[in-house]
Amino acid sequence: MLVQRLNRRWVQVKVPGCGWVRFRLSAKSKGAELPSAKTFRVTFRNGQWHVAFAVIPDPIVAPGTGEVIGIDRGVTITAALSDGRKLNCPQLTTKERAQIRKHERRAARAGKESPKKAAEYAKVARLKAREANRRKDWCEKTSTMLARTYGLVRFEKLNIKNMTRSAKGTFAEPGRNVAQKAGLNRAILAQGWGLLRQRTEHKAPGRVKDVPAPYTSLRCSACGWIEKNSRKSQAEFVCVSCGFTCNADTNAANNVAVGQGGIPRPRRSAGTGGVTAATSRSSAREPQPNWVGIPLF
Ligand SMILES: [Zn+2]
Repeated sequence: MLVQRLNRRWVQVKVPGCGWVRFRLSAKSKGAELPSAKTFRVTFRNGQWHVAFAVIPDPIVAPGTGEVIGIDRGVTITAALSDGRKLNCPQLTTKERAQIRKHERRAARAGKESPKKAAEYAKVARLKAREANRRKDWCEKTSTMLARTYGLVRFEKLNIKNMTRSAKGTFAEPGRNVAQKAGLNRAILAQGWGLLRQRTEHKAPGRVKDVPAPYTSLRCSACGWIEKNSRKSQAEFVCVSCGFTCNADTNAANNVAVGQGGIPRPRRSAGTGGVTAATSRSSAREPQPNWVGIPLF
């Protein structure tokens, strides 16, 4: 037995090499059942010890309506849905950002290895953790909503790793638009695109598909015409062929919903030598544990 309940509030856990460690349940986890999990991790962040147990979420049963939703993830709108809804991931407020800068400035001015410097940096870390917490919370709520409401969730296939890769390049081959790309990188990471897809897949196993992304933003979701000039601006889409007018992100989400990423590029599979179309990939991965943090005292 790794975990023992002492009373309503206190629980102890046996940490290898350390012995029994008591911790107090947070308000949120008080009513929860004792984690039967065999795995947990102990971390120290923001001046507090935390213990987290692996909780594998139960898959959410499909609503049975067979409704399909397409999701286009972007910088201006975190997730545009094909039903016209626009969901935005909360970020830090202007005031909170100013606070971060203030504490960073104070830390920079404080003496080397002074307690003041450490305290200021701790404040910065706490504010940044707040942003991460908000993003995680939003991803949890949104993914639950998606898994509950729709039978099939289609995401446009993003290569976030490539998109967030350093824009600097090498000395011999310096990257172009370094500042712009760095800005986009930050925005992408801040929006938590990957997490939203991952958590939706955990909650709706087998009901999440990736749609190849090329041309989703340029294809007219009404007539299928693909043309660069149809996208008038960041927000406006007017088809040059049929005149269909729509919000550009919603139009892209519509394309994702029908699984139309534009021209599916033929992919030559190495094994058979045959040509297979790059169609949507099924999600059959095992659900991953969600680390639920409880502060240790
Ligand atoms: Zn059209």
